[in-house]
Formats: sequence, C-alpha cells, structure tokens
Amino acid sequence: MARYSGSVCRICRRENQKLFLKGDRCLTEKCAFERRAYPPGVHGHGRIKFSEYALQLREKQKLKRTYGLQEKQFHALFVEAERCKGVTGSNLLRFLEARLDNVVYRLGFAASRAQARIMVAHGHVQVNGKRVDTPSYQVRKDQEISVREKSQKQVQFASAIEGAKNREQPGWLAVDFSNFKGTVKDLPTREDVTMPIEERLVVELYSK
Ligand code: SF4
Repeated sequence: MARYSGSVCRICRRENQKLFLKGDRCLTEKCAFERRAYPPGVHGHGRIKFSEYALQLREKQKLKRTYGLQEKQFHALFVEAERCKGVTGSNLLRFLEARLDNVVYRLGFAASRAQARIMVAHGHVQVNGKRVDTPSYQVRKDQEISVREKSQKQVQFASAIEGAKNREQPGWLAVDFSNFKGTVKDLPTREDVTMPIEERLVVELYSK
C-alpha cells in the first residue's frame, strides 16, 4: 500500500490523540488537535459507537502511524514479536521503540520520527562510528548513536536539539547534545513507552 501523503494532523484527529507527528508545531497552540479535537469529515461531530473490531483496528493504526510504518513492515514486526519469548504486545512496543529512527528522534537529533527516518536514510547517522542508513535497524545496549561530523553543521540538527531540550528524555538513553551523541544505556521496556496505547487490542486484531 502507498505511503499516506495527506495531512498528518488529520491522523491525530482520526485517532483522537496527539501523536506528535509534526515536531515542534505539536507543542504550540497551532496544533490542529488542540483546535479541533474531533474526527475529520462531515460526521466528525457525531457520536460514534465503535465495534470491538473497530477499536482493535484504531489501536493498531494509531501505533503504526505513530512510528510511521507501512502495514507490511508493521505486521512483520508483530510476527517477530510473537516469535520472541515474553508478552507479544510488550515485545512489539520494545521493537518499535528500539528502531534507529525512533532512537534518533528520542535523543533529540530530529524534530519528529519522520525527520529522523529521512536523516537515517540519507546517511547522517552513525552507530558505534559506522554509518547505518536503515531506519528499521534495532539498536543494542551500549551502542553509541551519533550524527556524522560533516552533517552536524546542518541547521536542522541544531534547531531539532533546541526543540528537544523541552522534551522529556527517556531514561534508557543518555544524550550529549554538545557532541551530537547518545548512548543506549539499556534496551527499552514496556514502561518506557509512555503514549497511551492498549497493545492487547493490536494482538487481538492480528490473532483473529
Ligand atoms: Fe498531531 Fe502534531 Fe498536528 Fe497536533 S500538530 S495534530 S500533535 S501532528
């Protein structure tokens, strides 16, 4: 399926939750969800009664869209989460959180996950000093994530870092803004995913 190219703010309104897809704008009064916290479309104001399936689908879409994955990639990650030991839903969240593009965003080197994905794909990011251009790369404990020296002068990184200083830093990462570096102190756990999500519904949807 093709990547969604419409308004990303519509996605937040559809999922009835701020998904922080637009970087710094999400923290201002310009946020579309702050101004119109109801679903888009002519029936947006009406009361919608969701079926069980619709609730499961919405939860899956919310998670998938927050991390910017296509259906095929998301499902593949789910299959991997199912194969691993432990609770499938928690495994899925851990895998999403440990993606390199998400880590770059969490460290504050990008204003949004979408920007982080482009940064990684364009080769601006290194893992333990080696360039990695795969956004889905899974980081490991003790790895060092950095912005390439040549890329550090680009204005987008400096402005992303400025914005990131207002964001909460996750405890499993350590960041050194002045050197454009961060370290994975530990792998993320379920508790590190702070967005309101009921991963159980996603598991139920895929288990049908
Ligand atoms: Fe969502 Fe950000 Fe748009 Fe607000 S500004 S609706 S949080 S993408």
